[in-house]
Amino acid sequence: MRGVPVLAGVPGQDAATAFLARAAARPGHAYLFAGPEGSGKKLAGAAFAAALLCDRGGCGECRDCRLALEDRHPNLAVLEPEGRDIRVGEGSDDYGTARWLVARAHRTAPEPRRKVFRIEQADRLTEEAADVLLKVVEEPPPDTVFLLMSARPHELTETIRSRCQTVAFHPLAEAFVVETLTAEDVSEGRAMLASRLAGGNVGRARRIARDPEGLGFRDEALAALREVGGDARGALAAAQRLAEAAADYRKGMGRFLDQELEPLLDQDTGDVAEQFRALARRIGERHQRRERRAEREFLDWSLLALEAWYRDALLVATGGDPSWVINLDLDWSADGVSPARAAAAIEALEEARAALADETNLNAKLVVERAFLRIAS
Ligand SMILES: [Zn+2]
Repeated sequence: MRGVPVLAGVPGQDAATAFLARAAARPGHAYLFAGPEGSGKKLAGAAFAAALLCDRGGCGECRDCRLALEDRHPNLAVLEPEGRDIRVGEGSDDYGTARWLVARAHRTAPEPRRKVFRIEQADRLTEEAADVLLKVVEEPPPDTVFLLMSARPHELTETIRSRCQTVAFHPLAEAFVVETLTAEDVSEGRAMLASRLAGGNVGRARRIARDPEGLGFRDEALAALREVGGDARGALAAAQRLAEAAADYRKGMGRFLDQELEPLLDQDTGDVAEQFRALARRIGERHQRRERRAEREFLDWSLLALEAWYRDALLVATGGDPSWVINLDLDWSADGVSPARAAAAIEALEEARAALADETNLNAKLVVERAFLRIAS
């Protein structure tokens, strides 16, 4: 992107990035990034924040850019749902709520520059939270920019939408995801597999392709499926296995927090050194957000992997074109699942994924059990 190198790192959304490159020079107060999951909104949001916080307008290399791209810039705050909603909150100290965000918007920025506020899944704002936010977007404190992100922009209230400039993101095609990953030195076979397993979500595809353990969730899911067998006991054991794998995945993320905090520790006491307290708190908050999502994410990937496996089985069983298989690396010559069984399993898995996406559904393991019981029957 001419003039804004950091936006050049956002693939496949030329119209959106061209718009943002122009906007970065003279930003408005509020933008709505609208488009499906995996279309690059997050990457574009981080890059745009970098462009707004960098002295050189988004060089992609300086400290401001680096921190903004990693979601760690002191002048950047992120609001996102806890559980199902983004709550209005009790007051300015109620972390992660609309009132907390608004208080930060009115306060002086930690560093002498703009403040950027990003609101993830903005369609999840409760009505009260949306009202509180609307006020600050209508009369924004100087030098604040709000970025609202949403895959369901029509669920935002009209009053908020009308206050934002909309930046539209379209879904990315498989060829594009594969091309992006192969340009990052991923082999074509793995890029294709990752793209299909990720349902075209480029961020997820990248993680699957580049992490040596990126396919771990599929291996776990297929191992669990073998345990299902044909009875209820097998189904429950399989759900238990998958729930444990998801819990391990979440625990594994704690390791990253320790690694990141390590350099901030006082050599003598082992506690976080005084001058790093604020930074450590921000790092901790970011990890908390990630961990909250981790188990559900793992389960969702696993169910999606099983769905993909059954789709392949269905394709093979009905004599479809083998090049359409998602799990290109598995041996399909011996498996014999009847088309009716495969179709029923896909339906059970789709319903389970929808149930997991609804975060009022508190017992994720129960959702998986139900799906496996249906597959076993
Ligand atoms: Zn920079």
